[in-house]
Amino acid sequence: MNEVICPTCKKEITVEMEVEYSAYLTEFFCSPDCAIQEYMEQMQSSPFEMTEENVRTKNLAIENGKLYRVWREQYENMKKKGR
Ligand SMILES: [Zn+2]
Repeated sequence: MNEVICPTCKKEITVEMEVEYSAYLTEFFCSPDCAIQEYMEQMQSSPFEMTEENVRTKNLAIENGKLYRVWREQYENMKKKGR
């Protein structure tokens, strides 16, 4: 018999906890918070900063405050022509 350990915080899981189970990871977590923390990690999720550099390298453009996906070359040409 082995204790079930939360992979995020390494606590032993008890029946009093709000246990989350991931069918994808086949892991038990001691709480939704610990589960979400691991899910964000697994998905390599991070806040996206809207710097000019980030926007350009992710092939995005901002027009009137909205985010667009663009093919960079097309977009640059469009801009040159003043659309
Ligand atoms: Zn935990």
